[in-house]
Amino acid sequence: MTDILFFKPFFSHTIWGGTRLREDFGYDEPGEDLGECWGISGHPSGMCYVKGGEYDGRSLADLWQNEPRLFGRTRTDGDTGKGSPFPLLIKIIDAKSDLSIQVHPDDEYARVHENGSLGKTECWYILDCPEDGKLVVGHNASSREELASMIENGRWSELIREVPVKRGDFIQIDPGTMHAIKGGVMLLETQQSSDITYRVYDYDRLQNGKPRQLHIRQSIDVMTVPAAAPEESVQHFGVATECGLQQLYRCGYYTVYRGVVKESESGVLRIRREHPFLNLSVIDGSGTVEGKPVKKGDHMILTAAKDEYTLGGDMEVILSGI
Ligand code: ZN
Repeated sequence: MTDILFFKPFFSHTIWGGTRLREDFGYDEPGEDLGECWGISGHPSGMCYVKGGEYDGRSLADLWQNEPRLFGRTRTDGDTGKGSPFPLLIKIIDAKSDLSIQVHPDDEYARVHENGSLGKTECWYILDCPEDGKLVVGHNASSREELASMIENGRWSELIREVPVKRGDFIQIDPGTMHAIKGGVMLLETQQSSDITYRVYDYDRLQNGKPRQLHIRQSIDVMTVPAAAPEESVQHFGVATECGLQQLYRCGYYTVYRGVVKESESGVLRIRREHPFLNLSVIDGSGTVEGKPVKKGDHMILTAAKDEYTLGGDMEVILSGI
């Protein structure tokens, strides 16, 4: 069985994107408005296709449905019938300018109001940011009435809660959390495979001469009030220096790890696959996975074929499993 599935990413061009996905990550994609690289995705809005090997050219959604053994599944698994999508989506995001202030629904709200879609729980690992880098995480309204009134009256500076961030920070964004990536921040996002976003405020920007759609009613419906304390969302892991594997977060949808390998100092990094499969994205440096060369910007799935995977070289990776 194939042990590693390499993917050709999907790129999203956005009004807030820039050029760093090409300049820093080496992706061969033109444009001055590159916002998102979807590195591992089975979502119809931005499908990833296998690059090389036995499954060359096939989509992740196709493999998930038709080659379940790669993902440690059998066709009789309870939740794996047709319509159960590949569960996670891995993106690298370059915010040249601020993203809209937004919130996502949970599974139950999305199922009822968004035609059976999944809700969206997501998390961010900060790859790079300015000295005074910030994100919007949460808000300052104390009741739903106050939230509605602050939104209706455009009291954004009072409502929005900004938190400082640094490289190596990890931020969990549960459904119902008001959030936005601010300009200058580059991050890796691990999320449920969902595209449901309720936009609360877009800084009155225009795209092709028109404001982008807002979803005020849904936002007020799904927002958690009052917001959780920032310490509950943001963890500071610092820049990785030690060789090894470190768990960053675990929730019902995913477990996320950071792996560092420095062959020159401490040899190889062996990873036991404690999940049916693992998503792996190289975020810095270069090296090997099971002897195959990989570099910054590469995305792959370590399949159920092996119980242990060996990484060599000098690189930093983010892994996730269900
Ligand atoms: Zn989001």
